[in-house]
Amino acid sequence: MKILFVSSEVSPFAKTGGLADVAGSLPKALRKNGHDVRIIMPLYHCVETGNFTIKKTRKGFEVPVDGVMQKGLLRQTFLGDIPVYLVEKNEYFQRSDLYGTPAGDYPDNSQRFGFFCQGVLDLLKRLDFRPDIIHCHDWQAALIPFLIKQVHKKDPFFSKTALVYTIHNLAYQGVFEREALSSFGLDDSHFTIDRLEYYGKINLMKGGILTADVINTVSNAYCREIQTEEMGCGLQGVLQQRAHDLYGILNGIDYQDWNPSTDPLIFKNYTASTLSGKAANKKNLQKALGLEQNPTTPLLGMITRLSSQKGLDLLEALLPKLQKEKLQLVLLGTGDEKYMKMFSSLQKKPSDALSINLTFDQALSRKIYAASDMFLMPSHYEPCGLGQLIAFRYGSVPVVRKTGGLADTVFDTRDGVREPNGFTFDDYTPEAFWDAISRSLEAYKDRKKWDKMVRNGMNSDFSWDHSGGEYEALYEKALKIIRL
Ligand code: ADP
Repeated sequence: MKILFVSSEVSPFAKTGGLADVAGSLPKALRKNGHDVRIIMPLYHCVETGNFTIKKTRKGFEVPVDGVMQKGLLRQTFLGDIPVYLVEKNEYFQRSDLYGTPAGDYPDNSQRFGFFCQGVLDLLKRLDFRPDIIHCHDWQAALIPFLIKQVHKKDPFFSKTALVYTIHNLAYQGVFEREALSSFGLDDSHFTIDRLEYYGKINLMKGGILTADVINTVSNAYCREIQTEEMGCGLQGVLQQRAHDLYGILNGIDYQDWNPSTDPLIFKNYTASTLSGKAANKKNLQKALGLEQNPTTPLLGMITRLSSQKGLDLLEALLPKLQKEKLQLVLLGTGDEKYMKMFSSLQKKPSDALSINLTFDQALSRKIYAASDMFLMPSHYEPCGLGQLIAFRYGSVPVVRKTGGLADTVFDTRDGVREPNGFTFDDYTPEAFWDAISRSLEAYKDRKKWDKMVRNGMNSDFSWDHSGGEYEALYEKALKIIRL
């Protein structure tokens, strides 16, 4: 199959969260199975200045944004042998961040991604690449299925192309004022309830859900949750309407990239049978972060976007209690101003048990996965969650709220499983979170049992070997629909 991935972030080029991990690893798994996979993304400042070989091409394009023809250029790099097309437009993409700063979204995001999506369609023709599948991710690429189905529906170039739309996080929908239609090259005729209109505004994700041939999200539990009023973020009705074509496919991670036995960025490599190497990582990280160097003190790690989704208010409520316990906590995160402020005031207090790191730091994240005993994810909701999958791989035991993909991957003895791999709690309360943490602290005291749980996680398989095949099946379904 010829498959084009359209994603606003792709690891290792640009990353704010799990979408980048998926867009940087699923294409490799599909490529391994013999497909012609290509990726397209914006050429951000961080891509330009990263250590990548970027080629110029002679190709350019022009698309209407707010009634003015805007020019863009195409550049290219590779992910292994996968071509990665980069859409260049300095005015839109040469910025410090991808979507906005801690103070909020960039005010011209409709123009930026309206330009990007229209550009993708134009460039495919210039490249003469007719994909069987265009696989679009999240709101930033949602305009593509909408444009193809509603504007270019008679264009023979796209007549054999099926559109797959993946929702990585339903909370970010690309909602703009009505005027944004012209940023997408669209007129007012699309401002109707069966198209892009949404409570008097424009909603790009709605457009993607309504028009893609098949839709999926990143776990089965989240797929069920988003069709309910409680967790549908206002789009439950639209999702119910498409329920027949809506699927859940659990994310995988790249087991070659996330591999404690070869990871060059951790202090010492180890495997499930050489856990002393994990202890060495703990010792070195304790030293590097100014924590007491004690091998028996449980080290709790948390690596997250600082957003209300991630259960940070539960953590905040528990901090006084946690600081009284014999444990160490290492947090790595960036995000919303509110949380940045809250944690930076804590950061200033000297402590040999608490380390707050308010940066985006790939190398430090790997060291934390490798060094920590427990990994905290008290999420309010979690579409899939990659943190717990990476934690399994590095032998850190997840302590998570049972929601979305966390509920599909983390199993606690209290759930009656024979091979537990973590600790879970149900209610979104500090008490329930504390109950799960304290059970993990208790379990940690029995070294033999604990190591067994560590190994259960390390020996499980959340690679793309499994889910990659589910995407192939989903693509087949989409092709079948357009051939009907
Ligand atoms: P989300 O996509 O909602 O942010 P996921 O758990 O799916 O959450 O994926 C988060 C990814 O981003 C993981 O690879 C995690 O290690 C990484 N990550 C999050 N915050 C940071 C940070 N501050 N520094 C480095 N990596 C981070």
